[in-house]
Amino acid sequence: MLPLPSALRAFAEALNNDGVTLYAVGGCVRDAYLGRPVHDIDLCSRLKPDELMRFAGERGIEARIVQQTLGTVLLSIDGQTFEHTTFRTESYGAGGAHRPDSVRFSDSPQIDAMRRDFSVNALYESVADGTLCDPCGGMEDLNRRVLRTTTDDPALILRDDGLRILRLVRFATALGFSVDPDTWTAAQANAALLGDVAWERKRDELDRILCGERVFEALTMLKEVGALPYLLPECLACDGMAQRKDHHKYDVLTHMFHACENTPNELCYRLSALLHDVGKPEAKRRDGNLYAHDLYGERIARTVLERLRYPTALIDRVCVAIRAHMFDLTESATDATLRKRFAAWGRERTEDLIVIREADIRGSGYKLGYVAERWRRVYAQMREEGAPFSESELCVSGADIMEELHIPAGERVGRIKRQLLLHCAVHPKDNRKDVLKRRMHDYV
Ligand code: ATP
Ligand code: MG
Repeated sequence: MLPLPSALRAFAEALNNDGVTLYAVGGCVRDAYLGRPVHDIDLCSRLKPDELMRFAGERGIEARIVQQTLGTVLLSIDGQTFEHTTFRTESYGAGGAHRPDSVRFSDSPQIDAMRRDFSVNALYESVADGTLCDPCGGMEDLNRRVLRTTTDDPALILRDDGLRILRLVRFATALGFSVDPDTWTAAQANAALLGDVAWERKRDELDRILCGERVFEALTMLKEVGALPYLLPECLACDGMAQRKDHHKYDVLTHMFHACENTPNELCYRLSALLHDVGKPEAKRRDGNLYAHDLYGERIARTVLERLRYPTALIDRVCVAIRAHMFDLTESATDATLRKRFAAWGRERTEDLIVIREADIRGSGYKLGYVAERWRRVYAQMREEGAPFSESELCVSGADIMEELHIPAGERVGRIKRQLLLHCAVHPKDNRKDVLKRRMHDYV
């Protein structure tokens, strides 16, 4: 049984006495049976918003209607918020955009279940006594660890909302479930419906997939179900693109999927790794080699991420990582070169790039990330020694430089500051006013 506040159970018992069964439904019931942590608890019953408001009011429970047409009411109990929806049936027009033509309230969970996507997401648990209502055989699927649509004709379910194809991939990999073969075939046949779904909705699912479990498996499923043209179309040209066998075990797309899986679970890292080589096909086509693929990649990644409506700051951070991901490719940079580069990048970019470098190497399928370990060691040393990572961390200012060298404000001051920064990156102890004042004369 779900862990629920006793005040909610008492409310459900009172409703029972009036002939109304209040259910918890969806992810919370599924996750509780799987022994997974339960996040939010969704409730439902046959009560329409106004009726529920009246019942709640009579029992001193705070309630607020948030969406009349979908029958959504928020109940506040013991400091927790519960969303209640009235059982309903939805009908959809053509296309996969998930815009119901009409919504009708209903009396039964059996009808309500038909608007849900997968049988394991259509389990209803009575709040009053924990009795399970399972209209679509969800418990059997849960025990077999299978994702199957709520009806025997999966196309019917998937056609109403193209996003369900992405949800299928997300739940399969998050829960470690397999996909029922008929459901999978229907998902592949209907992948083009994703073309009708708003980019923001697709992005939210992509985020959850990327920041979830089994990322490589999830990305491979997205490719195999045919979702990439509607999610990351520019990645398609990377599929099957061969690479030097001595450096890479995989084609470009598979390599990016592996690199993505080899990053810590943070969206910026996952997106950077997923797209880091996206410029390779264009570089090859235009220049006949891969030299500038970091620059092509940066531009293409920006297009992909802007289309998915990611925030500008995140896009900029990913693009910087992609543009710089080729640094020290031959793994021959000296410690001094690394120190100067890290100081020029600053802390955040350096940390990003160490992660991407390591993911890139691990994702090639051959080598271990020794070079990333070396970068990490040099970076840690710099921090221990208190090396500056920006010009503002130097012990002299622009004004000090102008005064000491008797030069006016201008580009020259900036150039000298930059040289002092690079010097202090290698010799952090020199970041003292007297030392730098003497040193700056060498840079005039
Ligand atoms: P989680 O919150 O862990 O992602 P969940 O199953 O609770 O999983 P939600 O998106 O919170 O998923 O939705 C709650 C329930 O509403 C689902 O379990 C499902 O029954 C139904 N649902 C949500 N979105 C859709 C959709 N696009 N199509 C069909 N049913 C949906
Ligand atoms: Mg949920």
